[in-house]
Parts: sequence; C-alpha cells; structure tokens
Amino acid sequence: ESDVVSLLKKMGIKTYGETKVKPCFSFAHFSFPQKLIDSIAKQNYFEPTEIQKQGIPLAMSGIDMIGIAKTGSGKTGAFIWPMLIHIMNQPKNKPKIKEQPINTEIDKNGTHKEYNLEVKGPKGLILAPTRELTMQIFNETKKYSKILGLKVTCIYGGVSKHEQLREIEKTIPDIIVATPGRFIDILKSDDSTNLSNISFLVLDEADKMLNMGFETQVKSICSNIRPDRQTLLFSATFPKKIEYLCKSVMTNATKVVVGDLG
Ligand code: ADP
Ligand code: MG
Repeated sequence: ESDVVSLLKKMGIKTYGETKVKPCFSFAHFSFPQKLIDSIAKQNYFEPTEIQKQGIPLAMSGIDMIGIAKTGSGKTGAFIWPMLIHIMNQPKNKPKIKEQPINTEIDKNGTHKEYNLEVKGPKGLILAPTRELTMQIFNETKKYSKILGLKVTCIYGGVSKHEQLREIEKTIPDIIVATPGRFIDILKSDDSTNLSNISFLVLDEADKMLNMGFETQVKSICSNIRPDRQTLLFSATFPKKIEYLCKSVMTNATKVVVGDLG
C-alpha cells in the first residue's frame, strides 16, 4: 500500500481513480498566490478541511473530480479556490480592440455595419440547485475574486430575467453562479452570453439538483460547454443516479470520499 493511500486512510479519506495526488495540510502548500492565502487567513480559516486537503491538490492538477463529503465540510472552498486559480491563468476579458476580426454587413440603407466579434464570456460556471445556494456561493466567491481581479455574477429564478441580463451585460463576469433552469432561460434570450470560453465547470449539490428534477437541464448545459473543460462535481451523497450523471458529464474523474458516505 502506498504512503499516500495509508495517509488518507488515517484521515478517513478514500480516493477512487487513476490520479493519486498527495493531500496538503496547510494553505501555504497549495501553491496559491500570497494574496489568496492572505484573504483565506482573514476568514480565520487556520487549516484546510479534509475535503479541501485532498480535493484542492486534485482539482489543481487539472483533472475531473467528484467530491463526496457531508454538509458543512467546506466543499465550497474546495472548488472556488482552484477555479479562481484556473481562471486567473486564462486570458482576460478584453475591451474591444482594433486588431480583432470585424465582420461587415450591408444593412438595408446600403451602409456598412461593423460587428466586433470580440472574445468575451464567462470562463467558469457553477451550477447549484437553489437561489439561496447560488447566493451563498456567489458571496463566498466574492470574498476572493476581487483581489484576484476577477468578476462574478449570480443568476437565479424568481426575479426579473431582464434585470439579470442587464447585470451580465454590465459586469461581463469571469464566473457565473446559476441555477440550471434560469441559466437556460438566459441563454435562450441572450445570444451574447457565449459558453465557448468556459473551461471550468462545477456542479454543486448535485444530489439535490437531481432530486429537484434538474437532470435534463444540467446535461443540456454540460453538452453545450466545450468537452476539454475541467469538471468538478460535489455532493453529500453518491447514489446510482449521481454515478450515471458523472459518467455522462465527466472524463476519467477521480472520486474523493470523506467519511463513511457514498
Ligand atoms: P459544504 O459546502 O460542504 O456544506 P461549506 O463550504 O458551506 O460546506 O462550509 C461550511 C462552513 O465551514 C462555512 O461556514 C465555511 O465558512 C466554513 N469553512 C470552510 N472552510 C473552512 C476551513 N478551512 N476552516 C474553517 N472553516 C471553514
Ligand atoms: Mg455546499
């Protein structure tokens, strides 16, 4: 038995999958930028939780990961911090610049209309089952995104769709936190929210999303995001239907289970 496996056993952590990565016991050892380490310290988090110790190094190695741990075990940090680091390393949303390709079209008055096909759109998407959960994740993300120069927007049902569309247009977010139903609505009525730059996808509280009947929407969103993305899925339980969802939306995922669940 390898050192890593026996170490994890002592911690009550099991991993399943090809990728074995050592857990990290300190925030200083995740290779986070100093300003992120500082803002985590401001939250009075002294050490990573178990799912963070093993989940973060796995997520930062670029693989697809399934995290199963009970409610209150710190799963949010396990995906937010690696997502922010991943996106920081992507090209930034740029304002319109001349060098970008311009499409010309002759409109009905015979004059040329110019369209600037600038590359913009979110780079990270987090799906969660309810408005309350998206707001929690949004607020949690904001604590760290600003100092890293990234912008985040929250999208949920029960409020004006147009307000939320305006918010997206105004913010030009790097990260969107959304409920699946409203996110699809937004995509239908806004062709400027393009998914082609999303390279990091998180499905949070996946068991609850399925229990609430979001399976079709979640799959449909996933199938419209580039297949070379990194996907993380978190859940407090791991029933068969989550296993099937993982098979259909993830590639060679490594599963981390904390405690006696799943
Ligand atoms: P889960 O998503 O697994 O239910 P959360 O991410 O919501 O758990 O975290 C539960 C609580 O633990 C939150 O109040 C959060 O601020 C806190 N928390 C997260 N990570 C740590 C940590 N490393 N040290 C101390 N508290 C933490
Ligand atoms: Mg959670």
